[in-house]
Amino acid sequence: MTPEKGLLPEKGLLIVLSGPSGCGKGTVLARLLQNDSGTAASISATTRAPREGERDGVHYYFISREAFESRIRSGEMLEYASYCGNYYGTPKQAVERLREQGTNVILEIELQGAMKIKRSCPDALFVFIMPPSLRALRERLTGRGTEDAATVESRLAVAKSEIAQADQYDYIVVNDTVEQAVAQLQAVLLAERVKNVCKQKLIDEVLNNA
Ligand code: 5GP
Repeated sequence: MTPEKGLLPEKGLLIVLSGPSGCGKGTVLARLLQNDSGTAASISATTRAPREGERDGVHYYFISREAFESRIRSGEMLEYASYCGNYYGTPKQAVERLREQGTNVILEIELQGAMKIKRSCPDALFVFIMPPSLRALRERLTGRGTEDAATVESRLAVAKSEIAQADQYDYIVVNDTVEQAVAQLQAVLLAERVKNVCKQKLIDEVLNNA
């Protein structure tokens, strides 16, 4: 059961979801969104080339370095980071628009960007998706076959450093099985919604219903 709509704050929650490349956070997030119409994922901009099957405006906005740098200069990015040689960033306007409509917005971003959000939006919720082990992560990264050996190694190096800093997050969800990870993430979001219920409205509602 979710909290009564009228008792929820007007603005949607901001949820930051991180986890090393290959930890399965994209799958966990897609499964969560299927069952949660009040929550949407932000679409990032990146300078990396699209992988097979990725579509512009759906998975990412694939843009050039020049275009990305111009967006940084004009203040259009809520946060951005350089990751394994490419820029990744969150377009500010879309996130704000969704939150103003009361939709919860999830940013699936890496650690440097997450720490920037921590400074600029202290009310955001931070969740880290953890692989069961470094060995499992290496197997997943090699197994999906979307990156060459050098890229896998560079992603693993970043992964080690990200895992070591996971204590910066409010919650760590271990992705042992997708079902279990989704259930834990749903529980975390529900708890956050209940926590954010307008207490005074709830108190007034109960007292006025004599
Ligand atoms: P990938 O190339 O595998 O799609 O993403 C590489 C990393 O960039 C992942 O950890 C992903 O979460 C992160 N990422 C994706 N979009 C953004 C973004 O807008 N900002 C930041 N800081 N990281 C992002």
